[in-house]
Amino acid sequence: MIVTTDAIVLKTMKYRDTSQIITLFSREHGKLSVVAKGIRNRQKTGAGGAEPMTCVRAVVYKKPGKDLHLMSQCDRLPVFKGLADDLKRMAGGMAAVELTNLSMPPEEPHEDVFELLSRTLESLGDATRSPENALYYYEMQLLGILGFRPELRSCVECGRSLARIAEDGLRHCCISTHGLICAGCEDRGFGGERVSLAALGALTGLQDARHPEAASRIILSAATRDEVGGALRLLVLHHLTGMKPLQSEQVFFTLG
Ligand SMILES: [Zn+2]
Repeated sequence: MIVTTDAIVLKTMKYRDTSQIITLFSREHGKLSVVAKGIRNRQKTGAGGAEPMTCVRAVVYKKPGKDLHLMSQCDRLPVFKGLADDLKRMAGGMAAVELTNLSMPPEEPHEDVFELLSRTLESLGDATRSPENALYYYEMQLLGILGFRPELRSCVECGRSLARIAEDGLRHCCISTHGLICAGCEDRGFGGERVSLAALGALTGLQDARHPEAASRIILSAATRDEVGGALRLLVLHHLTGMKPLQSEQVFFTLG
């Protein structure tokens, strides 16, 4: 079956002398592995490039029952510009595509994730401040789409609401793999990643944001950003990556 599909390139790997194996995340067919014969010759002449974080219109010959298909044509679409202009945007984009690659099963359509990743990369390419927020937004929204939405508005152990917890004047709480743990339940031995109420507010803001631009308006101090990042690490590692840390995210955070 020959299909034409728009796809985000998640990963490329050299294959033989002139070819590549490319992991695509396509709108209609989900994650697809394809061989692009001779593509590295075309790249040398400046044509037909498929690099991670680009979006392409691909013509793929899908072989039934196989997990590696043949890509006969690939045209880069003019989106996600600006990602390569800035190291931090690029590292954030790489972390988002790496996370997508680790968390998506092969050949299962996830149009909502495709849309989310597209909007995130678009927003990262334009980000003039806080590019990390776009990545945090992606992680939080992906958790929700894949059924791992953390409960952040009441304690997952005792059920006390966030409003009641805040009324008690407590300065911190914890985030477990399922969500909020109040200080009282932490004292009773439940735990997770400790966060301030400011960081908890930012996490709920990322969960409520309807698009990455809204998330980019959340202002985080350096300390709060570390707490938000720590809580998301816990959730993403536990639910999405099979406890495998994202390599590109480590690059992202060494850039400060
Ligand atoms: Zn509790």
